[in-house]
Amino acid sequence: MPPFLPSSRRNFLVGLGRFAAAAPVAGLLPAGAFADDGAKAYCPPPSAWTDLARKVSGGVLRPDDPFFGDVCRPNNLRYVATLPAGIARCVTAQDVQACIAWVKQQGMPFAVRSGGHNYAGYSTTPGLLIDMTKMAGAELIPGSDGLVRVLGGTLNNLVYKQLERLGRTITHGRCDTVGAAGFLLGGGIGFNMRKWGVGSDLLRATDLVTADGSLVNATAERDSSLFWACRGGGGGNFGVNTAFTLQTQPVSTVTVFNLTWTKDLPRVLRLLLTELASAPDDFGSKISVTIPSLSERCDKVGTTLSILGQLHPSKTTLKEIFKSTWELADHRTVKEDVAYWAGQDFLTETTYPYFYQEKSSYMRAADISEEAIAAMFDWAAKMPGTSMPSAFKFFQVGGAINRMGPTETAYVHRGFDWLFSVEANWWRPTDPVALVDANLDWQQNFYADVNRRTKAVGAFQNFPDPSLADWRSAYYGENLARLSQVKQAVDPGMLFTYPQAIRPA
Ligand SMILES: Cc1cc2nc3c(=O)[nH]c(=O)nc-3n(C[C@H](O)[C@H](O)[C@H](O)COP(=O)(O)OP(=O)(O)OC[C@H]3O[C@@H](n4cnc5c(N)ncnc54)[C@H](O)[C@@H]3O)c2cc1C
Repeated sequence: MPPFLPSSRRNFLVGLGRFAAAAPVAGLLPAGAFADDGAKAYCPPPSAWTDLARKVSGGVLRPDDPFFGDVCRPNNLRYVATLPAGIARCVTAQDVQACIAWVKQQGMPFAVRSGGHNYAGYSTTPGLLIDMTKMAGAELIPGSDGLVRVLGGTLNNLVYKQLERLGRTITHGRCDTVGAAGFLLGGGIGFNMRKWGVGSDLLRATDLVTADGSLVNATAERDSSLFWACRGGGGGNFGVNTAFTLQTQPVSTVTVFNLTWTKDLPRVLRLLLTELASAPDDFGSKISVTIPSLSERCDKVGTTLSILGQLHPSKTTLKEIFKSTWELADHRTVKEDVAYWAGQDFLTETTYPYFYQEKSSYMRAADISEEAIAAMFDWAAKMPGTSMPSAFKFFQVGGAINRMGPTETAYVHRGFDWLFSVEANWWRPTDPVALVDANLDWQQNFYADVNRRTKAVGAFQNFPDPSLADWRSAYYGENLARLSQVKQAVDPGMLFTYPQAIRPA
């Protein structure tokens, strides 16, 4: 996840669906032609767009719509140049079915979009963007024991608002504008995961429109392999998920904290990574080593070490959990026993779109040696740097995640203590291409060296990395074969595809 960015929240302008039937569409070329950047342009006749607009309740946006650019902008601006030919704003599952029939009829590529936060731009397309954000809502299922039904395009902020009203929660992330769909389908990590598992461990059912156009309700009993695949198999692989049923948990208060250290960083990091691994499951944390931007370096800002997290009501105190690192901290901000959702306001991440690439892997505390930590700081000192700070981070896993076996759901990464990730962040046109490339090389080498020294393996499918060669085994490990079988059963023709899509068996 990108670092905290002290900026105002980016509010997307979301316009009503509109369709200019007869107007010539700026930037579109005759069918089969290629746009300036070499990408193929897709140009169905105006009558086909009119036909689609009639069938999709939220309307269809074309490139001449004033809101088009805002609606289709991805969070990672690396992929902002891939503009769709049109945006279908789905409100119902039937709208999605109409889109699937239409793209098949037109032979047009498409991508499904909820929050648009895919790191690798896999929810961008030169064809039809199936925008799910109007299909939003989260409701308690009457008579159930805390089951909540979340519609397929709901952003996390709406889910949280509803959960707050109910006095309940799930395993959720820190960024309000991530889509629930992408988050849940790729596993979904957050500070509650050691207590209740990753987000997809709390999934009890999902509705999805599959490649043949049917609307399926998949559960552990019905279409069980498809349901299994939706619990960590990654978004955009098996269909368009139009609803999710989640088991929520009651919450009251929580203690939240942010601690920073400025001295003896390698020693403190080693202590944190080894000592915190035995913390109770009520404890959740993320450690960040932040590497300053080029301008911060001119102002003599150094590398910093911090930890952000929470503790549910527990017999063990924070001081007991942190052991020796507690007294070594330069700054400790602790908000004790605050209302759960007020505590989440303290932990919330506010970002706006920029340029980035992230690489991740999973580690066991016992494999993280003093030498490995020293090497991480040596690498940090060698980062060429950009106009933005970057970080390497450790998300604390373990607890309930490890009480499920790797093949029980498609989320295979069980048995680890830390999810490691390293960012490269930049801005255009401030950072020249050669500087960005130097930072991406640095990131590649740092990642390979850290993985070798710590025996780290795998990669988090919700942090997709377009530069990862062995992404199939890294994201899915021993679950890849079954995922390919599910793909063969529901989408043998690869209607749903992107560069790192699961292939049929
Ligand atoms: C600022 C930021 C903070 C983040 N914080 C966290 C965090 O705390 N925890 C965490 O686990 N991850 C986090 N992530 C990663 C995030 O969970 C994943 O990138 C997730 O896949 C994004 O989902 P989305 O719906 O926003 O993105 P999209 O780009 O809309 O979708 C992601 C993928 O899912 C597909 N998809 C979207 N909607 C559907 C649907 N309804 N049915 C089927 N497929 C669909 C898309 O085609 C794409 O392949 C963060 C990412 C960012 C940029």
